[in-house]
Amino acid sequence: MGFQLTADGFAKTIDALKEHYLIYAPVLKKGTGRFTDTDIVRYDFVNEASEIELERKSDYAFKEFLTPLSETLLFFTEDQVKAADIPDKPVLIFLRSCDLHAVRRQDDMYLNNGWTPDWFFKRRRDLVKFVLIGCKKSYQNCFCVSMGSNRSEDGYVFSVETDGDGFACDVPDTGFVPFFAAGQAADIKPSYVTKNDFEVRVPDQVPGAILKHALWDEYSSRCIGCGRCNYVCPTCTCYTMQDIFYHENGKVGERRRVAAACMVDGFTNVAGGGEYRKSQGERMRYRVLHKISDHKKRFGENMCIGCGRCDDACPEYISYSNILNKVTDAVENLGKEVQ
Ligand code: SF4
Ligand code: SF4
Repeated sequence: MGFQLTADGFAKTIDALKEHYLIYAPVLKKGTGRFTDTDIVRYDFVNEASEIELERKSDYAFKEFLTPLSETLLFFTEDQVKAADIPDKPVLIFLRSCDLHAVRRQDDMYLNNGWTPDWFFKRRRDLVKFVLIGCKKSYQNCFCVSMGSNRSEDGYVFSVETDGDGFACDVPDTGFVPFFAAGQAADIKPSYVTKNDFEVRVPDQVPGAILKHALWDEYSSRCIGCGRCNYVCPTCTCYTMQDIFYHENGKVGERRRVAAACMVDGFTNVAGGGEYRKSQGERMRYRVLHKISDHKKRFGENMCIGCGRCDDACPEYISYSNILNKVTDAVENLGKEVQ
């Protein structure tokens, strides 16, 4: 079931939803982009429909509610531990199809990747339902079609996209139909793209010989190890732990989970002064093969969903999608050498 709404009608829908949910959505932050006088689209809690950015791709990912870049998990005293509070209201997260596919990658890493689900992730995840933003066009650097994340047929309570001066919403979850009382019933399906500006090829299997391939060397000189590509990625899940002790009483403090980045110095440092991946080329190799090989071996699908945010964010104009095509070429050439 779907609805056509005027701008005023959609504002009423959001107002009604706000009574029951926190709304977490992409928001245009004017003048706070990477360069002077540039804008950025980041996730934030919104109070009204007009704050939700539906036309531009977000520069950062929805994951910052589920796994904040820095999150206090618990407070401790000498003999007591208390989990930090999180919102006590359910949360609606607005996101595009590629990001809805990224949710499954997050779930696999935090809920299905060990002897028990991550308790701190799960309590946030249990609060969340998703609203799909329809994609009427492909954005710069997107390669969702190649990664099969361009379309989502389920996993959302309703969809939304602009339609002329109004909005079009598909509402598969009948529990949400009452929020659309200001709308006109219509047959709506969310828009999705069927073609991006370029295609990316990913090898089915990656032979061990690719680890020593010369293609990685280029990144030892080009990549500056800033980690932007990791922090904007909706599927990067690595973190480190920090215990903060308060000055007044050194036995009291808090434990934080802080996002970590495999491209940044120190990620592979170990006790005794060892470091597993010293060069940026080795770090790039790890990042790329983790996204298109290691995750697939464990969970049956590529980790990368083709959002292109890493390409958007890289100050050195390193294109991850180009690297994937280079890896695929290298794998094919290695196959020919063996024959
Ligand atoms: S690796 Fe790049 S394109 Fe793939 S999901 Fe992460 S940010 Fe998006
Ligand atoms: S954003 Fe670019 S320069 Fe920065 S770590 Fe990633 S690939 Fe390297």
